[in-house]
Parts: sequence; structure tokens; C-alpha cells
Amino acid sequence: MPKTATFENALAHPVFKTIAKAAHNLQLESYVIGGYVRDYLLERGDAKDIDIVAVGSGIELAKEVSNLLPGKPKVSIFKNYGTAMLKSGPIEIEFVGARKESYNENSRNPAVEDGSLEDDQKRRDFTINALAFSLQKENFGLLLDPFNGLDDLNNKIIRTPLDPDITFSDDPLRMLRAIRFATQLDFLIEKASLAAITRNAERINIISQERIVDEINKILMTPVPSKGFGLLLKTGLLPHIFPELVALQGIEEKEGQRHKDNFWHTLEVVDNIAQTTDNLWLRWAALLHDIGKAPTKRFDKKIGWTFHAHEFVGSKMVYKLFKRLKMPLNEKMKFVQKMVLMSSRPIALASEVTDSAVRRLIFDAGEYVEDLMTLCEADITTKNPNKFKKYQNNFKLVRDKIVEVEERDHIRNFQPPVSGEEIMKTFGLDPSREIGIIKDAIKEAILEGEIPNEYEAARKYMLTKGAELKLTPVK
Ligand code: ATP
Ligand code: MG
Repeated sequence: MPKTATFENALAHPVFKTIAKAAHNLQLESYVIGGYVRDYLLERGDAKDIDIVAVGSGIELAKEVSNLLPGKPKVSIFKNYGTAMLKSGPIEIEFVGARKESYNENSRNPAVEDGSLEDDQKRRDFTINALAFSLQKENFGLLLDPFNGLDDLNNKIIRTPLDPDITFSDDPLRMLRAIRFATQLDFLIEKASLAAITRNAERINIISQERIVDEINKILMTPVPSKGFGLLLKTGLLPHIFPELVALQGIEEKEGQRHKDNFWHTLEVVDNIAQTTDNLWLRWAALLHDIGKAPTKRFDKKIGWTFHAHEFVGSKMVYKLFKRLKMPLNEKMKFVQKMVLMSSRPIALASEVTDSAVRRLIFDAGEYVEDLMTLCEADITTKNPNKFKKYQNNFKLVRDKIVEVEERDHIRNFQPPVSGEEIMKTFGLDPSREIGIIKDAIKEAILEGEIPNEYEAARKYMLTKGAELKLTPVK
């Protein structure tokens, strides 16, 4: 491709003409830059985020664009950053004035002064993110590519525009972005950039947990997340972010007995589940399902390596980990905890699928029982094809049985068929221990299959249990 290629088609959307006109009115130059340009050239589909650089005030340009747009959309101004944002339909446009940045040691907040387009391209993280399209009338759509980003796009390479040690030390978040883009786009990080990440890994500690988690989430949502986590390990970033995961790495051998490497096993499980679900939290559950194995690992002379109660320990670690990473401690976290806690249950069941065991599984997993099965299926990483088939078939049987049992017994959203109130009325009781005992006995009888999950049967059972407790119904 010639160095002066023009891409007018990339700017076919009418909003680009509007921005060009607004810039012309203010007599300043404007450019489309970054993700939009990159994704257009990669044919990654229509990006909904557009970044605009103005050589002059980005905020003024945003206001003028709003004036020219139907309905004059609201302009959000972020004064501290000198940026402004507006929405035109589904499209989000961010405006910034071209600038020159210089950083000091301890912060991500640079000293900023006005600059040229080229100054602005230099402060971008990667050559493929520094590409810009001109919005000037005389060269509308011209690609401005001072760092050969187009070559790097074609060769699938992530490279910093300037000295990578400076780029990464200035803003260590870029190290995570490098790995995230490499994973998302299936690109290679160029050698010098990769070495610089390794050298600067420790500086990730000045980045806020929220921004780190944003990148981790993006890595988790790619088709092959193990690529990203492998790079995080290789560059030495992972110990700073996720020491619990690093602790899973390695194989120990004692008296001829070895356990599997639970780090690489975990990554395989994450890759597997990435093929069957887009649920971010289920992918988190896959990442953390064995997290309790490092602190529970023991060697027993008779039975070899054990990880006793690792699911329980792991589910407790989920809370601590979410808290440290400043992730929301809400129902998503509880979901991940539940998946980790229950992650071995269907395996225990697979060898003998009884109705009552399936009822208990549905009762405990509730609405998440299918998610739990998806996790367990992803957990099959044996390289023995016969075993693989066998385990998969076993889980298929469990899944079938779940459907059959649920259709008959309705355990999923279990409601006690006889209420506490009815028990109190029947025996003339005030709130007391006996009520709980009877309710629990009814639930157990249903799960065990002694009685069906129905009102009449449960009421009869209540009377029997009451008699055992020496209670008499009031007339
Ligand atoms: P995506 O939106 O798919 O994550 P993107 O490249 O658009 O990818 P944004 O975070 O939206 O990423 O940033 C827009 C542009 O701003 C980038 O393309 C890049 O040029 C620049 N940029 C973003 N973050 C940084 C950073 N930490 N350091 C340098 N430049 C950055
Ligand atoms: Mg973007």
C-alpha cells in the first residue's frame, strides 16, 4: 500500500462531514485517531467509539459539532483532562486537543501542553493506535502514519511508537493494554516492547485496581484468554496482579507421585469455557475454580497429593480477591463464589446419578445449575480421548437427569409446600424451634424422595413429624 493512501470510505458516515465542517468553522484541523482507524483497517466491523483530535481546543470543537447536529446533543466536558464527549445516536465521539505530554516518576498524570498532531501521535500507546485519518477538505481520509502503524497492522505486531521503556514507565497501564490487544487481535508483541514490559512490570503497582480489572475483563472476554494470561506470567506482571494464580503454577513430585500443573490447567479451562459462554462471570469462575488448591495442597503417604476442601477455601478467597481488586461485592461475586464452592459436585455425581443427588444439586445450585454444568464440562482437560469422551458422556447424563427431575419435582425455585405459618396454626405454636425442625424435615423428605414436592403429601408429613415431637393439632 502506498504511504499516502486515502480512505474516504472509512469516513462515509455523515457525522464525519459534520465534524469536518465544525472544524472548518473554527479554523482548526481535526483528525480521527486511534481505535476507530485501527478497527476500520482491520475490518473489525463498525466501531461505535470515535476519537477526534483537534489541533486547538477539543472542547470548543465538540460544542460546535453539537451545534451542527440535529437535536444538539449534550456535550459532557472533562475539564481536568481537556476532553469532551457527545453522543450522536449509538455513536460516542470523544474530542481532545492535540497535546504534548511529559511525565514524572510517581504518577500517570502527565504535565500537558498544546502540541501538533504528530506530538499527539507520539503520546499514543502503540503504533497501531497512533494512526489518524485527516478530516481536512483538501485531503479528506488521508492516512497519517508517522510510525509505520499500517505495516505493524499488516504484520500483526504491537509496538510502541517511542522507546518502549519510556512509554511503559510513563503509563504502566499500557503494559496491560499491550497484552490485551495482543490477545484480542491475536497479534505478537514486538521483542523490544515485550522486554520493556518485563523490565517495567513492577510499575504496574501505581495503576488503580479498577483500570487493571477493566483490562483483565477484556482479556477474559477474548476467544483464547490463555494467551493473555500466559503473557502476564511471562512478563512478570501476574505476580503483582494475581499472586494467587501464580501460586498454582508448578508440578511437585514426591515418592514418584505428581500432581498436575493447576495454573496451566486453569487456563485450559478458561479457554474451554470461552467457547461455550460469553458470560463474563462464568469465565471468572473458570479462572478461579481451583484457586484454593495452592493453600490446601498436602502430600499423604497413602493417597498421594490432596487438595482437601479446596472448593470451600477457594470460595472464601474469591471474596478477598474481589475486595482487593475493588470489584463489586455484589450478586456477581456471590455467583462466582457459588460456582467455585460447587465446582466438584457434578463430578462426584457423575459416577452414580441418583434422583436424590440430582435434587440436592438443583436445590443447592438453584437457577445456576446449567452454569455449573457448563463449568464442569470446561473442566475436562484430560488428554486421553477415551476418558474425555467418558467424562463428557457422564455429564450429558447428569444434564438429562436434571431436566427430567426438575420437570417432575420443581426443585429449582424451591418454595416450602407447607409454610411456617401453617405449621404454627396447625399445632397452636408461637414462633419456636419446632417450626424450623418440621420445615427442614419436609424439605429433606422431598429431596430424599420420600415424599413428592406437593402440598397434600407435605401436610401429611408435617402431622407425622409433629406427632414425633409430641405436638397435637389444635381443633
Ligand atoms: P478499545 O476501545 O477497543 O478498547 P481503543 O484503541 O479505542 O480500543 P481506547 O481506550 O478507547 O482504546 O483509547 C482510544 C485511543 O486513545 C487509543 O487508540 C490510543 O490511541 C489512545 N490511548 C488510550 N489509552 C492510552 C494510554 N494509556 N496511553 C496512550 N494512549 C492511549
Ligand atoms: Mg475506543
